[in-house]
Amino acid sequence: MGNPKAFLTVNRKEAGYRPKHDRISDYGEVEQTLNTEDRVLQASRCMDCGVPFCQYGCPLGNKMPEWQDYIYKGNWKRAAYSLQSTNDFPEFTGRVCPAPCEKTCVLAIEDSPITIRENEAAVMEHAYSEGHMKPLIPEKRSGKKVAVIGSGPSGLAVANQLNRRGHSVTVYEKDTQIGGLLRYGIPDFKLNKNVVQRRVDLMRAEGVEFITNTEIGKDIKGGDLLKDYDAICIAIGSQVPRNLPVEGRELNGVHYAMEYLTMQNKIVAEETLEEKDFINAKGKNVLVIGGGDTGSDCIGTANRQGAANIIQIEILPKPKELKEIENRWPVPFPAYLKTSSSHLEGCERRWSLNTKRFIGEDGKLTAVEVVEVEWEKDASGKFTMKEVGTPEILKIDLAFLALGFIHPIYEGFLEELKITLTERKNIHTDDYRKTNIDKVFAAGDCVSGQSLVVTSIASGRKTAGHIDEFLKK
Ligand SMILES: Cc1cc2nc3c(=O)[nH]c(=O)nc-3n(C[C@H](O)[C@H](O)[C@H](O)COP(=O)(O)OP(=O)(O)OC[C@H]3O[C@@H](n4cnc5c(N)ncnc54)[C@H](O)[C@@H]3O)c2cc1C
Repeated sequence: MGNPKAFLTVNRKEAGYRPKHDRISDYGEVEQTLNTEDRVLQASRCMDCGVPFCQYGCPLGNKMPEWQDYIYKGNWKRAAYSLQSTNDFPEFTGRVCPAPCEKTCVLAIEDSPITIRENEAAVMEHAYSEGHMKPLIPEKRSGKKVAVIGSGPSGLAVANQLNRRGHSVTVYEKDTQIGGLLRYGIPDFKLNKNVVQRRVDLMRAEGVEFITNTEIGKDIKGGDLLKDYDAICIAIGSQVPRNLPVEGRELNGVHYAMEYLTMQNKIVAEETLEEKDFINAKGKNVLVIGGGDTGSDCIGTANRQGAANIIQIEILPKPKELKEIENRWPVPFPAYLKTSSSHLEGCERRWSLNTKRFIGEDGKLTAVEVVEVEWEKDASGKFTMKEVGTPEILKIDLAFLALGFIHPIYEGFLEELKITLTERKNIHTDDYRKTNIDKVFAAGDCVSGQSLVVTSIASGRKTAGHIDEFLKK
């Protein structure tokens, strides 16, 4: 720790967002950056507590005190080295992580944790711009071949770890470009796709082979991969969205959030789209159902497209603000009211509302009927929902279902290989992250259910460790 009193004299300072009128007219990242002098001051606030709760809060176990100190000393190269010793892709988490490390930072007790997430992004930008991110090509190859199915953060972490350990890795991706939800889910205004591509290019230069537009199970049978590779890692994400099977669901204008977000990400990437895939919110009254991150991403996208009005509804009650939750420290993932840059760009937010039915004319969505609900605990301790008040009709032209994902897609190679599932229909793995099929492992959301980029990278790293052990035997 360079400056033991900085936490007393330097206030937390966030870089903040670009002004609303500016950011709303493009898809560039909304978050700004601090100048280097301020960034160093922010890192100097780390108290090097002795027991680093931040490290315990981080699913990757990032060594925050160590690299805050390197930032303070201006040793950006060592900071990047330390950060990457536990996290394969800090440039992603530095942009999109909900930062459980900041919830567990001891300074969070006073509501002013270190700006760990922003510092992380800054370290990686320094590392790239100063030329420290050179390909690390393994000196020796093991002669073992590994196939990774899926190129989201978990698949990329598996590939990165195993390639650096000398195995020959091929990543198969059914989509056009590499990145999974980093590429086609998270909007560009949160994560610029050049940041994803830059890392993919580096991994390719290090020897990872990427094969896109190839769906395992359809273009290549799972059985053929089993014959050709020494180990396989399934990292196909949790791609079955939760539906809302109410009257009118089939109306033109009701979409899954991912149909909308993927479309917009493809437009920004100048990919070719079919006419039927275009969804435009310009001048429309938009309803977003679901109060989470995906819903918030729909709001940011609809505002950029020029929506007339946006309402976001959530079936659960309004959570408390982070500051209002007593004794929360050091809980890494407290449930609190999150207000994203997209919310600040304009939308109405309502809670405790259930969607009764969609209403339409000539097959086109025109309105939705909602009703207020109350949640009560029953005798067994389970929360049950009760409708209160009179139903209300909201005039809308577009509705996005942002209700989460339930499990991976089973039809295809999972079915072909008879992969065992859990009760929740995720992939079942043993303590070594192995499925019921010999030499087939799994990582990420397809095992855990929908989660976060940081937990997916952590899962990929852990699985890669077990695959490496397996290959060495
Ligand atoms: C809209 C949205 C916004 C999000 N925002 C955030 C955020 O801000 N911060 C955060 O931490 N997390 C966020 N998340 C969650 C995060 O993106 C996921 O938890 C994470 O991407 C999961 O990683 P994964 O590698 O397990 O799967 P995915 O990222 O889903 O990748 C799976 C990949 O496998 C491919 N695939 C599937 N089947 C096959 C097959 N048969 N053959 C070949 N390829 C196949 C898919 O095409 C996909 O590319 C968000 C999620 C969504 C949907």
